[in-house]
Amino acid sequence: MKAVRIHEHGGFEVLRIDELPVPEPSTGQVCIQLKTSALNHLDIWIRNGIPGVPLPLIMGSDGAGKIYKLGVQANKFKIGDSVIIQPLVYCGECRSCQSGNENLCANMGIRGESTDGTNCEFIVLDEKCVELKPENITFAEAAAFPLVGQTAYQMLINRAKIKPGENILVWGAGSGVGHMAVQIAKISGCNVIATVGSDEKCAFANELGADLVVNHYNDNVADKVKTFCGKVDVVFEHVGSATWAISMHVLAKGGRVVTCGATTGPNATIDLRHLFFKQQTIMGSTMGNVDAFTQVIKLVAKGQLKSRVDKIFPLDDIAIGHEYLENSEQFGKVVIDI
Ligand SMILES: [Zn+2]
Repeated sequence: MKAVRIHEHGGFEVLRIDELPVPEPSTGQVCIQLKTSALNHLDIWIRNGIPGVPLPLIMGSDGAGKIYKLGVQANKFKIGDSVIIQPLVYCGECRSCQSGNENLCANMGIRGESTDGTNCEFIVLDEKCVELKPENITFAEAAAFPLVGQTAYQMLINRAKIKPGENILVWGAGSGVGHMAVQIAKISGCNVIATVGSDEKCAFANELGADLVVNHYNDNVADKVKTFCGKVDVVFEHVGSATWAISMHVLAKGGRVVTCGATTGPNATIDLRHLFFKQQTIMGSTMGNVDAFTQVIKLVAKGQLKSRVDKIFPLDDIAIGHEYLENSEQFGKVVIDI
């Protein structure tokens, strides 16, 4: 089978298409013939170099396809079923896993980061990590929501615990995780201010249901927020250094900042006096628990939550897909057709 692997960290040139044997499912496992995969910013970080990544590594966290082969005692699916992959890797046995906080597992990882991923033609997985694809979506859409949907749901519902009527600022609504966050906040009855990086993306953010859309390069975000609602109850952060000061500035008393990334850099400062006097909370969040994935699938199956596929690249052109994502040209997801 074809598989996109990195043998070393670096630029687009380290993405290699290797020929590998089709993997065999063991007890309780299934082999999936992948039809689609999707790119995430995580892929770029991994390609550039994160400590602890095992090399060589098959890239890719998201995937959808059909059940190709069943291992012994694998009885959740039948051959030919259309399925999607839950991207979190966890042990299932530790205290965190037993209490439903699989994303806090001591051995927590993400497919395509800690173990081989989905940028390939076949993958073998424990059947507990595989779910039926909702019938109302395409394979491209199915690969486009798992990691970002699970992450955004965890941040807003499980961590920040957003409530109807609250004002939410979502940075980077054109990103995979951002476009999920806007929709999840709207489904929850919140007022959403979304930022985007170009005027062309404003219309897309409006389509997602954002109540106010701001161009974070041209507009003064703090002024726009002030005029719209004064302060916000929750800031959805994943940008980092470039936006942190504004995120803290626009946060209301009792407000929460929840962050899952630092695309523009990891260093930020806070004024502790403001933090304690305004009784605010800063929350870190990575991926989501298994229940977050289950809930996101339900929202997708009901048609309430949609992943927007921006562009589809064939597996052979995956380096072009990486470049497209790295330049933030997309609104929604970059999908790989396998
Ligand atoms: Zn565990």
